[in-house]
Amino acid sequence: MSDFEGLRALVTGGASGIGRATADLLAARGARVAVLDRDPADVGKPLLAYRADVTDDTSVRAAVQRAAEDLGGLDVLVNNAGIGAQGTVEDNDDTEWQRVFDVNVLGMVRTARAALPHLRRSAHAAIVNTCSIAATAGLPQRALYSATKGAVYSLTLAMAADHVRDGIRVNCVNPGTVDTPWIGRLLAAAPDPAAERAALEARQPTGRLVSAAEVAGAIAYLAGPLSGATTGIALAVDGGMQGLRLRPV
Ligand code: NAD
Repeated sequence: MSDFEGLRALVTGGASGIGRATADLLAARGARVAVLDRDPADVGKPLLAYRADVTDDTSVRAAVQRAAEDLGGLDVLVNNAGIGAQGTVEDNDDTEWQRVFDVNVLGMVRTARAALPHLRRSAHAAIVNTCSIAATAGLPQRALYSATKGAVYSLTLAMAADHVRDGIRVNCVNPGTVDTPWIGRLLAAAPDPAAERAALEARQPTGRLVSAAEVAGAIAYLAGPLSGATTGIALAVDGGMQGLRLRPV
């Protein structure tokens, strides 16, 4: 497929996991793709790479501006950089809540703010935010993380409303548990990684983890011309967690 031919995309957190799979897929489908990441060391051609931390407004503005100049404009923003947090409200103090909100929520706000002037000049503008099933599922031991993703979901709807008349579509994907380096680190830190992995797999009705490529496919759909009539939605990519209302297998 070359449905992204002529389009220019920026993917935050694009050096690893879901972001990397998305950057690679958009490039394979014809887009010119820039990755914004705090650690873009492993990113090579054809992707362009820019080092920036989404908690630092100055570095985000500079990286988005340079990416837009190098790509000759921007049509697609994939707001994907994010970090995890575990525990109940009693387990994380205010400093930790502010740190994770700063990355997961304000990080997306900063990048969108820097990208919107460029997106307004595009004839095919789309923003896709990487949200999570945690936004709506009521997962145990994920209070802080879930709250950040709830905010991303609300932000997606509000931005979709604000920018629809500018011709900018805004949607999000809600993945279940995705097999990425992040989950690899989580499992490595568990007392019994194999049992933890089995528990994560069993939580999804399909009985397996989602692949990064499957999330990338959903993001590409929402970012591309085939979803031109779709804005303000959350697309679940979660092995049936939200839709089926089944007990896990
Ligand atoms: P990952 O850790 O494999 O990749 C995240 C990337 O974001 C890394 O390259 C990292 O360097 C970058 N990053 C992190 N903080 C940054 C910052 N402050 N500034 C710039 N770059 C930063 O993680 P992943 O599993 O691919 O997760 C990507 C997104 O998907 C996150 O928003 C996460 O919340 C979401 N998500 C993941 C899962 C999952 O199970 N893996 C499920 C639902 C949603």
